[in-house]
Amino acid sequence: MNDLAEKLIKTHELSKEEFIQLLNQADDKRLREQLTQEAVRLRKACYGTKVYTRGLIEFTNYCKNNCYYCGIRRGNTHAHRYRLTEQEILECCQAGYALGFRTFVLQGGEDPYYTDERMAHIISSVKEEFPQCALTLSIGEKAYETYRLFREAGADRYLLRHETADNRHYQSLHPESMSLAARKQCLYDLKELGYQVGAGFMVGSPGQTMECLAEDLVFLKELSPHMVGIGPFIPHHDTPFAKEKPGSVDMTLFLLSVIRILLPKVLLPATTALGTLDQRGREKGLLAGANVVMPNLSPVGNRKMYELYDNKICTGEEAAECRGCLENRVRSVGYYLVSERGDAL
Ligand code: SAH
Repeated sequence: MNDLAEKLIKTHELSKEEFIQLLNQADDKRLREQLTQEAVRLRKACYGTKVYTRGLIEFTNYCKNNCYYCGIRRGNTHAHRYRLTEQEILECCQAGYALGFRTFVLQGGEDPYYTDERMAHIISSVKEEFPQCALTLSIGEKAYETYRLFREAGADRYLLRHETADNRHYQSLHPESMSLAARKQCLYDLKELGYQVGAGFMVGSPGQTMECLAEDLVFLKELSPHMVGIGPFIPHHDTPFAKEKPGSVDMTLFLLSVIRILLPKVLLPATTALGTLDQRGREKGLLAGANVVMPNLSPVGNRKMYELYDNKICTGEEAAECRGCLENRVRSVGYYLVSERGDAL
């Protein structure tokens, strides 16, 4: 067996230099097979054939940030902006609950309209109506005290991709007002406050090198988040990265397997971006070690407007259709959607 693969499988860890070497062999078929097989073995040992579902509610596409890769960046004057009311958010949850969702993810741009008070009110209303469900937030960087307020209001989990753990690369994806240090601090704050925390990054974002990816893996091991969201970068036509190449599906799949081995119990979604670049991307993600899917619960009328990247899938169907479609896709590769909160082990 490949020495590095063997070491990764045995110790669930590698140094940055070793990760670089491993990633440089990502198209070695035998190596891929070894790692995929081990990733699936670990995934099954921890979670059997269950796939957890998260109902994603994209409740605002207003954003005060201007990240170069993102379609809802402030500078995109062509974006049609929308916000959901608390009532509309609750209706998404009701529809989702009836379909078997037991986790709701409130995701949005960093939208100052949702003040701490408004947000805390939404959180407690959702938790009051659905006390048996987990509530996940994905609304960017906030002050420690704000995270604390949201936690006290009932939020259980928080998704905040670090985007890249390489300083220089981080600066090349974001305006000067943003920093990797601030992003990381948020993740540590969230952990300290008792959230189940999700980090993650885009695969193949402009300027990303094997060294950047190795740094991502080292950072993930150090942070040991409960969840890791990764998906290929996909250009959006109204951003500075419009003409850049999309990330690689195969590299994303390889990294999913590596992350499963690095953090065996991690909650690992087969992302919509993966399903956008490859018709069977999410199925392939599950076969590489993923154990979560995040179908869209946003009102159909708003879905196309939450356009982080071009050609995003599942923007035309009702929530029920999406769930049904995914159920079949998941079953086609030998896994089963379950109606559970799916907390971190
Ligand atoms: N404002 C929130 C939510 C961001 S959207 C936050 O800051 O966390 C969720 C994720 O979509 C981002 O973290 C980013 O990794 C991903 N994303 C954004 N633009 C993308 C693109 N062009 N291609 C692929 N993924 C993208």
